[in-house]
Amino acid sequence: MDTVAQILDRGLLDKPGLEYLLQLNDKSQQQLFSRAACVKESVLGNIVYFRGLIEFSNQCAKDCLYCGIRKSNLNNRRYLLSDDEIVNTAVFAHQHEYASIVLQAGELISDNFTRRIDMLLKKIHRKTKGELRITLSLGEQTFDTYKRWFESGAQRYLLRIETSNKELYGMIHPKDDHHVFVNRFRSLESLKKIGYQTGTGVMIGLPFQTIGDLADDLLFMKQFEIDMVGMGPYLEHAETPLYQFRSQLWPLRERFNLSLRMIACLRILMPKINIAAATALQAIDKMGREKAIKAGANVIMPNITPGKYRDQYKLYDTKPCTDENADDCVECLNIRVGLTGNKIGFGDWGDSVFFHEKAQII
Ligand code: SAH
Ligand code: SF4
Repeated sequence: MDTVAQILDRGLLDKPGLEYLLQLNDKSQQQLFSRAACVKESVLGNIVYFRGLIEFSNQCAKDCLYCGIRKSNLNNRRYLLSDDEIVNTAVFAHQHEYASIVLQAGELISDNFTRRIDMLLKKIHRKTKGELRITLSLGEQTFDTYKRWFESGAQRYLLRIETSNKELYGMIHPKDDHHVFVNRFRSLESLKKIGYQTGTGVMIGLPFQTIGDLADDLLFMKQFEIDMVGMGPYLEHAETPLYQFRSQLWPLRERFNLSLRMIACLRILMPKINIAAATALQAIDKMGREKAIKAGANVIMPNITPGKYRDQYKLYDTKPCTDENADDCVECLNIRVGLTGNKIGFGDWGDSVFFHEKAQII
């Protein structure tokens, strides 16, 4: 078998090469991380961008078998931030020179919801002089809705494919018309066609998932020419159907390391895209996001949701920073990012370089 260096020097990472890298042990993975960090620094510099994450509602019409806020989980107190709370939080991000926010929530499809997001986008742009980049992460919507939101000022959209293996997708979702792999894929195609900087991602360490699946996930992102990725470990939630398979899961530490290896491989495969250090990493390891930066990630998403709501947006059992307010997080992140040898790109949109270069070629 080739060494890590030989595989990386060959340049083109194929499925067997990726499978090998994804299975490196704790010691040998350092070589992979260093290479990925080197690629990131030489192509994108030693800058990390902030995206202020606003989880504005845990109301969801879907029932994904892994997610703590699925509609069938009746133990969840549902919340919805008011327009003012959302706009004020966006203004907070702007004042702190975040340059970029993510509006995320459960998936709702209705005319009212479409109109409300439309109105919020316009209001936020008015209040921040058009200086904020806004990313939406609101699940699968129609082509027309995506287009309307784009025209109202959303420039980026995050929609994780969750897994690129159609069979596995079927196993972690209810078998009905609302949870269909092909529809999710088509939504990604719509976003790209409309002109969004399009982001996707997967969960790592799902029950039934194999290393081959994860290698395919990386190749899927490459082939789809995705602009941004946010991926992290699957973390079980006791009030979800998938919890019954917890004994089959890789240990948490292995899921964590595997997530870092996924990030590193992706950075080498796609040097110019934006890769986020997922919050779920920090749920396993206090320095999780910093370790992800050292493995090639260049985006951090500090949670700026008003503190009183944070406990209620529980996708999985352990969630970091739920008892802190946003100011605490900015300060601790400032220091933490500095420790990785990176600077925060305050006031800088930090668009996907890959997205803009693609647009020039076309
Ligand atoms: N409703 C939207 C956005 C919010 S959910 C959507 O589904 O696209 C955002 C992400 O949280 C999902 O894409 C999923 O990948 C992740 N997630 C949900 N439950 C999780 C869990 N138990 N462990 C890790 N990630 C989870
Ligand atoms: Fe809803 Fe998203 Fe959770 Fe699925 S993953 S249940 S769509 S919030």
